[in-house]
Amino acid sequence: MAVYDLIIVGGGPIGLACGIEANKAGLNYLIIEKGCLVNSLYNYPLNMTFFSTSERLEIGGVPFISHGPKPNRLESLEYYRRVCDTWKLNINLYEKVIGGRTRDGVHQVETTKGMYSCKALVLALGFYDLPFLLNVPGEELPKVRHYYDEPHPYYKQKIVVVGAANSAVDVALETWRKGAEVTMVIREQGIRDSVKYWVRPDIENRIKEGSIKAYLNSVITRITEHAVEIQTPDGIEEIQNDFVLAMTGYQPPFEFMRSLGMEFQNDKDHTPVYDELTMETNVPNLYLAGVVCGGLKTNKWFIENSRVHAELIVNDLLKKRQVH
Ligand SMILES: Cc1cc2nc3c(=O)[nH]c(=O)nc-3n(C[C@H](O)[C@H](O)[C@H](O)COP(=O)(O)OP(=O)(O)OC[C@H]3O[C@@H](n4cnc5c(N)ncnc54)[C@H](O)[C@@H]3O)c2cc1C
Repeated sequence: MAVYDLIIVGGGPIGLACGIEANKAGLNYLIIEKGCLVNSLYNYPLNMTFFSTSERLEIGGVPFISHGPKPNRLESLEYYRRVCDTWKLNINLYEKVIGGRTRDGVHQVETTKGMYSCKALVLALGFYDLPFLLNVPGEELPKVRHYYDEPHPYYKQKIVVVGAANSAVDVALETWRKGAEVTMVIREQGIRDSVKYWVRPDIENRIKEGSIKAYLNSVITRITEHAVEIQTPDGIEEIQNDFVLAMTGYQPPFEFMRSLGMEFQNDKDHTPVYDELTMETNVPNLYLAGVVCGGLKTNKWFIENSRVHAELIVNDLLKKRQVH
């Protein structure tokens, strides 16, 4: 079996950036992606607009031209396809990495389609696959959704949006503007501080004027086919309901990372252990890149500020080569 210099797990923007740096350095590399190219971005809400301007999402020196002040999802898909073509990236799509181990300094990588070997492995896994569940009776009903695509299905429907961060706020505003009757259920005492500063007044004013109803310091306790039961500071309330959009966030695949021998800090964010200068974890030649580096602090890293991880990793690999 051929031994790759580098295998990159995840074909998101940062996995692609790692492939580009490997390509520049003349390394024999492979990117393995379990879904389509930039799978997370593909699954984002259809009408989403990035908060970054396009040049801050660029990788590999390929210009990203967008038509508005900020790029949208479709433009980003077009852009990353073009990046992949420009750099002729070596990428396998629709192949999931399901396990791995290290033997004699070589990583063995097991996927849904076969086995690979590599001298170094990068995990650029993102965090978009495992939603935080509400863990209440009724969550398994088809009307409960942990991903949001577009507002049209919710027109003239009574919907509950759970959460108080950016995605919950975006979903509440967009569905309300397209004719849904929106109730927010928020565990905290208000909208989160991390909500984009230009969106915050919009949601606060909609709540203040009563266009969007919000239950603060409240949690859902039960979901049935036509209703939702909410524990509020004034006791249990039951409201009529057609759909629940649980925008409660997502988490990295910790179990998978642990199975590769990775360690985590003993902090509330479950931050992976890695060297910030090289991105190498406690397992030799196992690197982390992109948003997955933040553990549960999923808003710490994004495309803009984690593109540099690719260069750090490949520089480290080249430095190790010189030493040996
Ligand atoms: C609505 C929204 C708006 C955003 N706007 C911005 C913005 O304006 N600017 C910005 O910089 N960031 C923005 N972000 C954040 C940004 O999208 C993420 O930070 C970015 O996707 C991180 O890239 P990544 O490559 O680290 O992870 P991801 O893009 O999540 O890629 C990880 C990839 O790994 C794959 N994968 C996971 N497990 C496996 C496995 N076992 N085997 C094979 N493949 C696997 C996944 O399918 C996925 O394609 C936004 C996010 C959201 C949700």
